[in-house]
Amino acid sequence: MFKPVLGIIGGGQLGSMLASAAKKVDIRTVIFSDDSDAPAKYFANEFICGDYNDINKIKEFSYKVDLVTFEFENIPFKTLEIINKDKTVSPSPKTIKIVQNRLFEKDFINKCNLRTTQYTYIKNKSDLNTIKDLMPGLLKTCTMGYDGKGQYKLNNENDIDKLEIDFTKDYIFEKYVNLLKEISVIITRFGHQRYEVYEPIENIHEDQILKYSKIPAKINHRILNKSIEWASILSEELNFIGTMCVEFFIDKNENLYVNEIAPRVHNSGHLTINSHNISQFENHIRSVCGLEKIKIKKLFNARMINLIGSDIKMYKDKKLVENEFFFDYLKKEIKDKRKMGHLTIIEK
Ligand code: AMP
Repeated sequence: MFKPVLGIIGGGQLGSMLASAAKKVDIRTVIFSDDSDAPAKYFANEFICGDYNDINKIKEFSYKVDLVTFEFENIPFKTLEIINKDKTVSPSPKTIKIVQNRLFEKDFINKCNLRTTQYTYIKNKSDLNTIKDLMPGLLKTCTMGYDGKGQYKLNNENDIDKLEIDFTKDYIFEKYVNLLKEISVIITRFGHQRYEVYEPIENIHEDQILKYSKIPAKINHRILNKSIEWASILSEELNFIGTMCVEFFIDKNENLYVNEIAPRVHNSGHLTINSHNISQFENHIRSVCGLEKIKIKKLFNARMINLIGSDIKMYKDKKLVENEFFFDYLKKEIKDKRKMGHLTIIEK
């Protein structure tokens, strides 16, 4: 069977875990990152450092591989399109264009007849006059925001004047959901109506950053089935190839909302490495490289703790017990709010 050389754009922990999974199924990887210290370079067969807008470097990368995928969605669309002329990019740049922008993404989800929280587009300061009915809510940049970056909570109109908002950027304002809990569904799509879907994962955020994930999620059957159905609809409508994650809100009345789509492997799915026969990473590799689709099977219930900032210090020398798995992302510098590693604990 032909085994392609896979190019991966992005060199963070998701890139490392993708490259490790690729090794397991005998796929060679080349990582492209703009950070010369990117941790994924220790896991890939080859590493190229360059700017994501440097077309010559990107072409050098593209020349070395048969297929390209990525570990984060904020890659310049033009770069993906240029690569896609010569080598297949999976998931497709068209898909990425939708989810790179919170407004396009929410419009798309609603066009699929799935519920999101109410939202409105904010281009100018005067548009903020229209958001009274959506208060309290969150003002979010349309592009480049993650882990709560580029987000402002507004409780009432007085808060608008307190904020120094940079209106050279576009925003959406979304109504605050009275959260009961948050879940995510990770799905790998291999082609038309061909999926492997992991059961919903329950997530707890602290300071808008994911802190804990666990399976099984403590949710009722209606929400379990609905979240899986909605994730399948979204991946089908996007014509997605690879692993993606749909993040959901559940409100206090047990209504389900799609929060956002991550068009890639996701932090909440790290526990699949130890809980399942096939991880979200291996499934992504299998899907984009056209390898066999194998039915996923849960082996253990599990929970994961994200090690953020200096949390990592106490785990580096910790003696692990048999059901604990520690992952150090090998980042050079410990920074506040930076994901440095994670610990998965399986229930035997
Ligand atoms: P995001 O980057 O949009 O996924 O937001 C990060 C986290 O902030 C979410 O996982 C929630 O915990 C919280 N959050 C974001 N938007 C809302 C909202 N509209 N209502 C309630 N909580 C939110």
